[in-house]
Formats: sequence, structure tokens, C-alpha cells
Amino acid sequence: MSLPIFLIGARGCGKTTVGEALSQALGYAFCDTDHHLQLVTQRSVTEMVAEEGWEGFRARESESLKAVTAPGTIIATGGGMVLAEANRRFMRENGRVIWLSAPPEVLAERLENQPEAGQRPTLTGRPIAEEMSDVLRERAHLYRAAAHHEVNAMQLPESVVEEILQSLSLARA
Ligand code: ADP
Ligand code: MG
Repeated sequence: MSLPIFLIGARGCGKTTVGEALSQALGYAFCDTDHHLQLVTQRSVTEMVAEEGWEGFRARESESLKAVTAPGTIIATGGGMVLAEANRRFMRENGRVIWLSAPPEVLAERLENQPEAGQRPTLTGRPIAEEMSDVLRERAHLYRAAAHHEVNAMQLPESVVEEILQSLSLARA
């Protein structure tokens, strides 16, 4: 059986980009928990947070994680998925977990260059580079705890895919 592969990491680390490429390389399906959540609720993340707060959003996020988990699937998770210990345990127990790791400056630069980044509320309202520093300081240990493998996300996406395949001893389909 092909275990699900969970991609974790902060916004901008390449979960969507790398996840889609990895799904092609392996012939797996691709799912994004944020997209699933938006489809199910018919609301944007911004709207959900406005209506139900971060707590409500986090509860729904955990439900989405379970809903999309299936064999032969690459799952790109929301940046805060690792905050809940139940989510970390669920991912570790039900598949292989890959942390796409990159320094905050790199993440901030990518997000600034990405037009749709504005759709997601910033956590603090402060400059994105400062925010990414704080986010990583708070969450790096959680990404590390949840992950089976830490992968350098600063390489070209194809190289990130290659490193993931090697770390999981998987061959291209
Ligand atoms: P995430 O889903 O983790 O938030 P995305 O895949 O949406 O990240 O990538 C965020 C931005 O960074 C996009 O504009 C994407 O093109 C770019 N990007 C992603 N991975 C890489 C990479 N390995 N090298 C350079 N740019 C990247
Ligand atoms: Mg994404």
C-alpha cells in the first residue's frame, strides 16, 4: 500500500508547488487541506477566521486533514497544522511526514512575490519578514517533532522532489 505523504512547513515553503510535482512523479493524487476546507465551507480562510476565529478555523482544519487522508495521496497541509498535537500524531501514524524547511527571509520573499498571498490574513499585521521569523521560532520544534524527514526547501522544486523521493526510498512512477 502507498502510504499518504504529508507535506508540512510554513506558508511559502513550497507545499503546493512541490506537492503537485511530487504527485506527478509518483502518480499519486494531490490534496491541499486549505483548498478542501474552502470547498467544504464555501468560504475563504479569511472569512472563516473572521466568523469563527482562529480556534474555529483550527477545528475545521483538523477535520479536513482526516477527510483528505488516503493511500496514494500527497497532502499539502496548512502552515499551522502542526500546532495541534492530535494533528501531529495523526500524520505520523497514518503516513510519512516531510518538513519543507527554509529560512524566514526566503519564505517572506516568496510570499511578497505571490499575488494571492494577500488572501490569507497575516497573523500579526506586522511586516511579513518579521512575522515569518516569529512563526518559525514558535513552530520549528513542532515541524521537527512531526516530521519523519526534514528536506531543504531552498532548492529548485525538482530537486526538492528528488530529495523527498530519496528520503522515502520511493521511485518515480
Ligand atoms: P505553500 O503551499 O507552502 O504556501 P507554495 O507552493 O504556494 O507554498 O509556494 C509559495 C511561492 O513560492 C510560490 O510563488 C511558488 O512559486 C514559490 N516557490 C515554491 N517552492 C519554491 C522553490 N523550491 N524555489 C523557488 N520558489 C518556490
Ligand atoms: Mg499552499
